[in-house]
Amino acid sequence: MTETITRFAPSPTGHLHLGHAYAALFAAECAEQAGGRYLLRIEDIDQARCKPEFEALIYEDLAWLGLTWETPVRRQSEHMAEYQAALDRLTKAELLYPCFCTRKDILREVAAAGYAPHTAEGPIYPGTCRHLSADERQARIAEGVSFALRLDAQRAVDMTGPLSWNDRTAGNQAAQPDSHGDVVLARKDIPTSYHLAVTVDDAAQGITLVIRGEDLFGATHVHRLLQALLDLPVPDYHHHPLLTNVGGERLAKRDKAISLRALREAGNTPTDIRRMIADLAPG
Ligand code: GLU
Repeated sequence: MTETITRFAPSPTGHLHLGHAYAALFAAECAEQAGGRYLLRIEDIDQARCKPEFEALIYEDLAWLGLTWETPVRRQSEHMAEYQAALDRLTKAELLYPCFCTRKDILREVAAAGYAPHTAEGPIYPGTCRHLSADERQARIAEGVSFALRLDAQRAVDMTGPLSWNDRTAGNQAAQPDSHGDVVLARKDIPTSYHLAVTVDDAAQGITLVIRGEDLFGATHVHRLLQALLDLPVPDYHHHPLLTNVGGERLAKRDKAISLRALREAGNTPTDIRRMIADLAPG
């Protein structure tokens, strides 16, 4: 039997709230029940949005909740060379292309097409820059137009063939990696992306059970494809339901009232937090 290694992977872009506490405790309990390990990862590739004070507060909030985790904590901003190595490998396999589109260009193109499939993250990229010739690409790069790197998903799928992954509650899933289209693997402003960094990190940390919210269920199809392309091990997944408020809305970082810090300062104890989570948790 492989050892269970789970993780909690918050972004230090705001205060943790009850939903984060739920996710953090859920993963820790899974590790404990399996006699496994619990790791923490700070997802701070977006240095413009991430703040040291939010990172400090993550450690404070989690310790206050009674959680312990292994050190050193993996901080994505310290591993940019690993993401670059993964990009280099995909470039060598001719699976990436530069995309010069702005958000506006994409929305315009999608509107002109009349219909375009969407994912939770927005419209699927219509593939505009995939069709540029090598000369056109070179010319734009020479002009200094900034670009992202996108995965040529169809080409990638042709290369890997059918893939599958296992969700602990939803069962075995036939991967649908092209469901997200040509995802960005290196942003214009940051030489990696959520999808790439998370996939590389889960492998680097030896995660055997990825526990995260069901809003990321679709992203797992993309991550499975990246694992195949980069020869990375395939963990099991558990996508848990998201906590909602009594009105049924998803808890959000901007909703200050339910931040752990505010709840703590209002005199609540960790036991109170656990009770609140139990009241809000589905099922
Ligand atoms: N950093 C992500 C978040 O805060 C979680 C990423 C993941 O678990 O894959 O939602």
